[in-house]
Order: sequence, then C-alpha cells, then structure tokens
Amino acid sequence: MSTISTLPPDLIVELRACVGPDKVIEGGETLEALSKDFYWYSPVLQRLLGDKVAAAAVRVSTLDELRTVVSACARAKVPVVPRGAGTGNYGQCVPIHGGVVIDLTPFDRVLEISPEGWFRAEPGARLATIETEARKIGWELRTMPSTWVKSSLGGFFCGGSGGIGSVTWGGIGSPDNVKSVTLMSCEETPRFIKLEGQDARPGLHTYGTTGIMVEIEMRLAPRYDYDQLLFSSPDWSKLLDWTDMAARNPQWSKRLVTMFEDPIPTHFKPLLKYFRPGEHVSLYVVDKNSADEAIASAAAAGIDCVCRLRFSDPPKPPFLSDYTFNHTSLWAIKGDPSFTYIQAGFGENFREQFKLLQAKFPGEIVFHLEWLCRRGLPLRDGSGKYYGDGVGVGGIPLVHFVSEERLQEIISYCAEIGVGVANPHTYFLEDGGSHPDIDTKRALKADLDPLGLLNPGKMRTYAHNPFAEATELSGAV
Ligand SMILES: Cc1cc2nc3c(=O)[nH]c(=O)nc-3n(C[C@H](O)[C@H](O)[C@H](O)COP(=O)(O)OP(=O)(O)OC[C@H]3O[C@@H](n4cnc5c(N)ncnc54)[C@H](O)[C@@H]3O)c2cc1C
Repeated sequence: MSTISTLPPDLIVELRACVGPDKVIEGGETLEALSKDFYWYSPVLQRLLGDKVAAAAVRVSTLDELRTVVSACARAKVPVVPRGAGTGNYGQCVPIHGGVVIDLTPFDRVLEISPEGWFRAEPGARLATIETEARKIGWELRTMPSTWVKSSLGGFFCGGSGGIGSVTWGGIGSPDNVKSVTLMSCEETPRFIKLEGQDARPGLHTYGTTGIMVEIEMRLAPRYDYDQLLFSSPDWSKLLDWTDMAARNPQWSKRLVTMFEDPIPTHFKPLLKYFRPGEHVSLYVVDKNSADEAIASAAAAGIDCVCRLRFSDPPKPPFLSDYTFNHTSLWAIKGDPSFTYIQAGFGENFREQFKLLQAKFPGEIVFHLEWLCRRGLPLRDGSGKYYGDGVGVGGIPLVHFVSEERLQEIISYCAEIGVGVANPHTYFLEDGGSHPDIDTKRALKADLDPLGLLNPGKMRTYAHNPFAEATELSGAV
C-alpha cells in the first residue's frame, strides 16, 4: 500500500497561504489526534489502524478556504480525508493512505432555523448548538447520536445513522428527515451538487468518500419537555416485556428507549447510586406529561422507577443519553477492557434470538438493546399519524473478546438465526452495514471523486484507488 506521509513543499506553502500557518498541522500529538477516531473499541481495527497518521491536517472555517484546500490537494494528487469531531467508530476518518485530513469543525455556522420546522447549517456545526437553538423556537432534532454534545452535523450525516429520537423518527435516511445536502467534488476546480429529499440518500453514511458535504438542510420535530427515567428489575423477562410495550405505546411521546442487561449498569459509575446489585435497567426518555402514567404502569408490572430527571432547557447535563448507544460500549470497555461489541438488528422473534445466542455463547454476550423505528417510516408523521408497528429492537450487545475467529463465529451465527449485524470490526463501508444502493453510491463517487482521492481505501468496491496495490487490504474480521 502506498502512503503519502509527506506533502510536496509547494502544497504546504499553498495550504499555509490559504488558511494561515497555525491552521496547518504537520506533526506532533495534534496531528496524531486528528488522524484518529474511536476505532479502538475494536481489537481488529486496533491492529489494522493503530499506526495510521496523516501527512498534515488543515483546519478550514469557510467554503472558500475548503475549496482552495481541496483544489490544491487535487492538483498534487494527495488523499483528502474530511473530518468532523472524530467520534466515528470504525476508523471512518482515519487516513489509511496518509495525505491531508481536513478538519471541518470551524466551518460551523447554523445558517437558518425555520419556524416551519427545518434548519440549514454548515457541516462543522455541532448538533448540540442546533438542538439548543431549535428548542428555543419550539423544535428539536428528529434524531441525533449519543455524541450530540460534541459531534458535527456533517460527521453525523457521513458517518452516523441515528440514535436519540430514532425510536420515533427513524434514522437519518428515513423518508422525510433530510431536506437536502450539498456536496462538493474533489477536483482542481471543485463542483457542487445539491441532492434533495430521498435523492440525498446515496450521499449519506459514505464516510466522506462521495464528496464533501458543505451544506445540510434537515427537518425538525416538534419539541417536547422530557423526563429521563430509569427503571430497574431483577427479572429480565418482565423488564423486557414492559420496555417493549413502552417503546410501542402510541400514547407516550418518547425520544429514547434503551435496556441494559446486568452487569452493564455497574460500569456507569456516576449513576451507581440509583442501581441495585444484580438488576437489569431500562432507560426511558418520555414527554413529561406522560411520565407519571409510565411510572404507574411499570409499578403495576412490579418494576421500580429508580431515577427521574428533567431534561432541562436550554439543555444541560446530566443527560442519561450519555449511557446509551455507543456510550454504553464506552463505559463498559473502560470498566472491563475485555469487552468489545457488535451492532445488531433483531427480528420480531427477538426473545427467542436472545435465548439462542445465550445458549450458544454462554457468558460471552451481554445485551444492550435500543428500540428504533424501522421500515423507513417515522413513528409519527407531520399530520400526527402513528406507525407504531414500525418499531423494532436493535442494539449494541457487548461481547467478551476471545479472538478474531470467535468474533467472526458470533457474527456468522447471528446471520444464521436472522439477526442482522452491522459489523463494527471493519473499515470498509460495504462490510460495515447494509448498502442496497451501493451501485448508486459508487456512481456518485465516480462523479465527485474522479481522481480517487476522497478517503481512499474505505469504499472497497470502488475500483479506482491510486494508492492501493493489487494484493492488499483485508480490513475486517
Ligand atoms: C461514545 C460514542 C457514541 C456514539 N453514538 C452514536 C449514536 O448514537 N448514533 C450514531 O449514529 N453514531 C454514534 N457514534 C458514532 C459517531 O459519534 C457519530 O456518527 C457522530 O455523529 C460522528 O460525528 P463526527 O463529527 O464525530 O464525525 P467524524 O467521526 O469526524 O466523521 C465521520 C465520517 O464522516 C466523514 N465526514 C465528516 N464530515 C464530513 C463532511 N462534511 N463531508 C464528507 N464527509 C465527512 C468523515 O470522513 C468520517 O468518515 C458514537 C460514537 C461514540 C464514540
């Protein structure tokens, strides 16, 4: 594999002239940090990506700066890796062929929040800023990752999939959530294309391989005032049944429904005062007007509410979402470094699938479940129509890591029993999730990245990678 670990002197001069010398980082710990994300959750990716570092990182604040930097890199034919806050999990913004990492976090203006329920922003805008501003005028983000406090809008669209809010509104790509994205090509004279509505889908979650997102418009959801509730029970089945009912209950407007098998909660150090040893825990973020009813319903089922916290406005901690999605994995891996994880979508027979997995891999898998709206439909549409039957059980179960072979065995068995796995132990786009539209994504890349410079090596099925050698690359278990 060829790696561009130093840049031509002329290019360095040009980059410095464009953004200022202090915004071009050519070495040291800062460059190391800007070459990493959270790939290290995976022992496989640790092995594959641990030594990867860019030749330089460049911080851009405006579209003009971005265009000039990309144009210079295209002329010099060096890899270009866009980057937001670097919270991705699969080495998405790790520059496997070196070159230039472009830090987009200073390119961060929220351009418009419409009273009609949508916003327009630059890609570096932090989701927390958008959420806070939207709430001021009666709206909120339809979906955001548990890293919403830190992560960027562009990073979420190009690296993420959904999260908080997805139980009601589905993921980023669910119909109607995206209004438009504007992509810039990687060429000497960059071009721009605007993809609207469902036409934007091929540009989503492609790890920055299909153009650089320079402007995003997304629809918002009506704002609710939320209570954050924790429920605890020693009885897994009882808690599972109640949590599943609460996720599907059309009367309760909810933003987050999560369940943790014991001993996962024992790793949430700041919350330990709420938990009882040996118990499983569910987290429910619900409209405050429905919280009393939810608590009473749980009590009737023999389940205790052990914590009730208001989600304050403007948002400020504590956020119980800090323990959900891949934050759960983070707390657990910190507490027990033998853990790694898989990302799973269970069927309607999820109870039976849990039993099969527990029987086949006793003690190796610990369940962390997230309820999500599937079938590409939001749970409630603009007219208030409710699609409760679209809710399904997904999650990010923890796995005690034994070996790469054993991990593959677990993933293969999941497929055998109908559990979908988005493999987090690969940096290849195609192997890390389901991409039924990969042909369209490849065509978009061919159009916007004709030189093959955008995050090269991440789209496995894209033939033109000028930095690859014929025999290389096995970026997965
Ligand atoms: C603790 C933890 C919890 C997480 N929880 C969730 C979750 O709930 N849901 C979820 O979906 N994800 C989750 N993630 C993954 C990640 O945090 C999110 O996807 C986040 O939105 C990524 O944003 P970022 O700014 O950090 O992107 P980055 O990591 O910087 O980038 C992600 C990808 O997008 C590309 N990219 C960034 N900006 C652009 C741009 N403007 N144009 C083109 N490409 C671009 C990068 O090249 C990279 O491939 C989690 C990760 C961690 C570590």
